[in-house]
Amino acid sequence: AIPLVIAISTERAASAGVLIKDRIALERMRSIDTVLFDKTGTLTRGAHTVAAVASVDGLDDGRVLALAAAAEARSEHPVARAITAAAAEYDDAAGLPLTGSDFSSAAGRGVRAQVDGTEVAVGGPNLLEEMSLESPSELADRIEEWTGRGASIVHVIADDRVIGAVALEDAVRPESQAAVKALRDRGVQVALITGDARQVAEAVGRELGIDEVFADVLPHDKDSAVADLQGRGRSVAMVGDGVNDAPALARADVGIAIGAGTDVAMESAGVVLAGNDPRAVLSMIDLSRASYRKMM
Ligand code: ADP
Ligand code: MG
Repeated sequence: AIPLVIAISTERAASAGVLIKDRIALERMRSIDTVLFDKTGTLTRGAHTVAAVASVDGLDDGRVLALAAAAEARSEHPVARAITAAAAEYDDAAGLPLTGSDFSSAAGRGVRAQVDGTEVAVGGPNLLEEMSLESPSELADRIEEWTGRGASIVHVIADDRVIGAVALEDAVRPESQAAVKALRDRGVQVALITGDARQVAEAVGRELGIDEVFADVLPHDKDSAVADLQGRGRSVAMVGDGVNDAPALARADVGIAIGAGTDVAMESAGVVLAGNDPRAVLSMIDLSRASYRKMM
């Protein structure tokens, strides 16, 4: 039988927007010493907007954006949504709209498609690395300026040649700051993990007061980061939203999925937050501590 206190706690959690799928999660939550947050879509809104576009050797920015948008047409990633929305609004987008075919995507890297007779790829640092390409030096100044402001950069590649870059901004959720501070006040360490570039991850970390930052992490390596922390004796709650977070959510001592996230994330987690408010993690720690104190 379920002890009464726990049944009540589970119910109370539900009314605070915390759906506890696995009762062990509630019990373990009181002894969590580290909360590892995914960045995109969890600490940030995951609603990117295109802040700037740059292209190489006099290529038209509108054309680069149009090619990128065509390649992103099938992707649900926030980066893809931002690029397709920006292309739709871009006045000079030469020859818009372009249509793609033979779409494929690689989680944590980017997308690829045939567009207008060329093989177009759009993606972050992991994609460039995978394709053994480097960001062109003529874009270096602008990219440095964008990343300095905390923007994420994706590169646009046509037939294995980088033709441009797009800067994307993703605002930190207003509740994230309070969530991080309150966790630290309770003696819980806070860390951040992302597939995004280090400069972006550190900019968000600075904004939120998180020193421990795992950046450039490929989707299948997110759970290794969790295992790493556990190997160092830490008891980890992982909070995430994406398909790429699922293995890490499953590996963590407590996996917490953001309600607005993907189904896969929710299936892998022991706890699902009804809303997008990271402060709900706190309510859960408090509830867990209170419930199990009563029982002991
Ligand atoms: P996070 O771990 O922060 O939730 P993801 O693992 O979803 O981020 O993505 C990591 C990086 O991979 C992104 O920052 C971006 O550079 C790249 N990426 C992923 N999907 C796409 C896409 N559809 N188009 C372009 N880039 C993408
Ligand atoms: Mg995410």
